[in-house]
Amino acid sequence: MPSAISTDVLIVGAGVAGLWLNARLRRQGFSTVLVESASLGGGQSVKSQGIIHGGAKYALHGALTGASEAIADMPRRWREALAGNGELDLSSVRLLSEAHYLWSPGTLAGNLTSFFASKAVRGRVDQVKGEQLPPALQDKRFKGKVYRLAELVVDVPSLIERLAQLAGDGLLAGQHVEPLLEQGELVGLRVDEREIRAQRIVLSAGAGNAELLSALGLSQPTMQRRPLHMVMVKGPSLKPLYAHCLGGGPKPRITVTTHPAADGQWVWYLGGDIAEAEGVAREPAAQIAAAQKELGNLLPWVDLSQAHWATLRVDRAEPAQSGLTRPDNAFLAEQNRLLVGWPTKLALAPDFADRVLAALARDGIQPGPAHTLPSLPKPPVAQPAWEQLLP
Ligand code: FAD
Repeated sequence: MPSAISTDVLIVGAGVAGLWLNARLRRQGFSTVLVESASLGGGQSVKSQGIIHGGAKYALHGALTGASEAIADMPRRWREALAGNGELDLSSVRLLSEAHYLWSPGTLAGNLTSFFASKAVRGRVDQVKGEQLPPALQDKRFKGKVYRLAELVVDVPSLIERLAQLAGDGLLAGQHVEPLLEQGELVGLRVDEREIRAQRIVLSAGAGNAELLSALGLSQPTMQRRPLHMVMVKGPSLKPLYAHCLGGGPKPRITVTTHPAADGQWVWYLGGDIAEAEGVAREPAAQIAAAQKELGNLLPWVDLSQAHWATLRVDRAEPAQSGLTRPDNAFLAEQNRLLVGWPTKLALAPDFADRVLAALARDGIQPGPAHTLPSLPKPPVAQPAWEQLLP
């Protein structure tokens, strides 16, 4: 029987939310244990596009939703962390792009023209031309307009690796999680037969939260999954591109991010509308054909004859919502010692950690006496999908 452990905060699920929270708590002197059943970041986090949104994309729905939304402050907080002087030291994390771009292949629809001219976007969104264009769009055949958004793109695998370093000795590879009850009250969890007591228990297991809640006999909060069918293309002729290509509707027609493969080539990772409903319904071969057609229409000068293609199905996990609106804040629900949530975006991991820290402060939870942890089995760091799926 493995030894029992006591810790201040026990976290289940080591995606960006659990890892970021864990690092913040440790920095404030709390003891933590972070349990992961598969690989660090291997749920949605390393499959994400790494864009640190500041909310500009959502302005395409209409007006910007206002400064009260946490998302507006995320680019600044990440920038400070990446510079090594923020809430975490992420100076070893690779920044892929200083900016994300909005790219309109034709003339702008009337509502967008007024959007770009509006006070809300001035200073946040600037039009770029010529040599300032993203390298992949620098071709004399390119017609259209490009706007630079003050939003970063981070290399998520290097982020996860850094957050795993900051987790110190607190990572635990564990499969079976059961409630640990005392007089009917939750006091911790039993993880693979090991008892772990904690002042607070946080579930940040992404799509795994629903099952964990039911193992604890709870039905709230409810979760929704939003399936996506992403496309990856790797080739020697690809140049960096980080952009939402605008279509007629409120969602980007296609969102392209570019990621370094281990062999030195670039991988374009395609999301946006192409990866949603119709794309989800397509078989992989048809989804690749649709992406080839889109890129052929939008970027006819890019030679894709040597490219390798693959698709990836992945669900976004979020709190259940009515309608189609997406929250621009992290979500956290509480029940006595238990806290459960979803950051809803990688960019909002700092907001998720804030919400947990605020709940601890409100309840007067302080770091307890330091305990030395026994040596624990460690989960591996996830591999990026393009290393697994592309030659
Ligand atoms: P996850 O990363 O899914 O981590 C949950 C972890 O919990 C996993 O490691 C899992 O193995 C573990 N787990 C599950 N069950 C258990 C259990 N029972 N016991 C122990 N561990 C368990 N957001 C952005 O801000 N910008 C983007 O550009 C962006 N692009 C995206 C693109 C795609 C294709 C997708 C799918 C999402 C994207 N997102 C983006 C959203 C973002 O990826 C997620 O909101 C974020 O990664 C969620 O982090 P998480 O830690 O909650 O979940």
